[in-house]
Amino acid sequence: MNLDNPNQETRLVVSCPPVMHPPRDGFRLAGCYGTWISVPAHTKIEDLSRYFIVRPFGAPPPESRVEPKTLTVAGSRGGTYTVRLRENGQTTCTCPGFGYRRTCKHLTLLSA
Ligand SMILES: [Zn+2]
Repeated sequence: MNLDNPNQETRLVVSCPPVMHPPRDGFRLAGCYGTWISVPAHTKIEDLSRYFIVRPFGAPPPESRVEPKTLTVAGSRGGTYTVRLRENGQTTCTCPGFGYRRTCKHLTLLSA
């Protein structure tokens, strides 16, 4: 263990470049998102690499990907229909109207 440089052992892993709050009472908060620590007020932004390791999350998902959604809606004549938003952005509904027209009023519920 390297005792000359204790910070080496306690660096926090963060997923974005850390930022700092203005100094208060000789200390200032540094970090990002939910990870914050107190650092001496004279700490500079370039010193933060002593406290943090920036390790971005895996590549963001492709923009075309849509969070799939499924809704069950009550039909006007009883029964229920299932409205679906698929990963590829396609929307479907099990109501008869969608069967004829490939669109229906229920699809708008998905974007509501
Ligand atoms: Zn429908």
